[in-house]
Amino acid sequence: EARITFENVVFQYDDGRTILHGLSFDVPAGSSVAIVGPSGAGKSTIARLLFRFYDPQGGRILIDGQDIAGVTQESLRAAIGIVPQDSVLFNESVGYNIAYGAGSAGDEVTETELRRAAEDAAILPFIESLPQGFDTMVGERGLKLSGGEKQRVAIARTLIKDPPILLLDEATSALDSRTEQDILSTLKRVSQRRTTIAIAHRLSTIADADKILVLDHGRLAEEGRHTELLERG
Ligand code: ADP
Ligand code: ADP
Repeated sequence: EARITFENVVFQYDDGRTILHGLSFDVPAGSSVAIVGPSGAGKSTIARLLFRFYDPQGGRILIDGQDIAGVTQESLRAAIGIVPQDSVLFNESVGYNIAYGAGSAGDEVTETELRRAAEDAAILPFIESLPQGFDTMVGERGLKLSGGEKQRVAIARTLIKDPPILLLDEATSALDSRTEQDILSTLKRVSQRRTTIAIAHRLSTIADADKILVLDHGRLAEEGRHTELLERG
């Protein structure tokens, strides 16, 4: 759980064109926000700023009230679990991939140990939502998985680290909407008190978010709940 605040954030890449024009928003600790908007609106830029791949030229970005300008990239990576659209898994068992997230890369990990780690991180439902659940975890190789299964494993691999913040960068956008719904409802169950930022472009992805930010050309065009935005048209 962590609160995320953007305060009048102004940002330009090296070419000097202003991408974010004094952007302000607040994500209360433990809540979920979806950031939507057309391609080029600045969604990925927000993610890059959160990891300090770049620093803003104006304004501040705060996590739990602390300006991240004074926080190392390493600490930010530990605090923010990111799941990209096309996750890359090791061509190893599902168990190996999830154990890697738990920091046991290269070690022999028994199913019992994995199950305990998954219980601690409360991600058991996620693993059980894989077609064969825990049973084939140790045997199946990553690259034989379908797109949806791969993203489930990638999310589990991130969640097992129990990061206070989860950043979904179009994590389910490439999947069919039924698979997407499946994954999102599981995620909602296992991730209730985690601050979640979902960068998305499809409406179904964001219906459940506590707050939706509609970004347009680096400005906040709208902010509200799903139903409110629909009512406003
Ligand atoms: P979105 O994720 O909403 O599609 P981005 O944050 O990727 O938008 O991009 C916002 C704007 O910043 C776009 O106009 C894009 O062309 C520009 N941009 C992205 N990356 C760079 C970069 N490395 N250098 C210059 N401009 C960039
Ligand atoms: P680690 O194993 O170092 O804790 P993770 O497995 O959680 O890191 O993966 C985060 C990795 O993704 C980091 O190496 C980080 O540099 C990279 N990353 C973070 N945000 C983005 C982004 N928006 N686009 C591409 N790569 C990113």
